[in-house]
Amino acid sequence: MFKNKKKIIFFDGDGTIWYPQSSKRKKAPHWIYSDKNIGDNYLEHLILTPSALVLLKKLKKLGIILILLSTYPHFPKEADILQKAKIKHFKLEEIFDDFYTSRNKQEGKGEAIVRILRKKHILKSQALMVGDSYRFDYLSAKRVGVDALLIKSEYMKHPPRGKKIQKTISGLKDLVGILSNKNIFIK
Ligand SMILES: [Mg+2]
Repeated sequence: MFKNKKKIIFFDGDGTIWYPQSSKRKKAPHWIYSDKNIGDNYLEHLILTPSALVLLKKLKKLGIILILLSTYPHFPKEADILQKAKIKHFKLEEIFDDFYTSRNKQEGKGEAIVRILRKKHILKSQALMVGDSYRFDYLSAKRVGVDALLIKSEYMKHPPRGKKIQKTISGLKDLVGILSNKNIFIK
């Protein structure tokens, strides 16, 4: 299925590890940050996606390095503070090995992934990106030569004309199935 065995997995946040309780994957999750009634209380309206915790724990047991990588429109320092509050809220401190934010542009995650892999001395072919955004997760990783899985959603029904998405999953629970194929991972 992939070019090489995977040693490290990058997970997107919004729409991947958590999403708005009321809209789930029916609507792009970012609406929650600009809703006037919700304001700064968005954490109370976000829930972990089904299978997220089970999946992450299984991967951790397999010795896979787990990275949370989410895009923020804020400056890096502010983005880190906002991300930390979410990690604390969902009690993910012990689950992920590392937490990074990326800049709000299509190349953002690809650039961050390349930088992190270089720092950790891990090959691109040993990395996987999982997210719900075609442009910000899937394409961003693919463009720097990293495998990616796109989570299907109602807001990502149609990829841009002429573009083919080769690898999609309907939710994190599909990754649990992929896990049973131990050949995918490096021990
Ligand atoms: Mg997302």
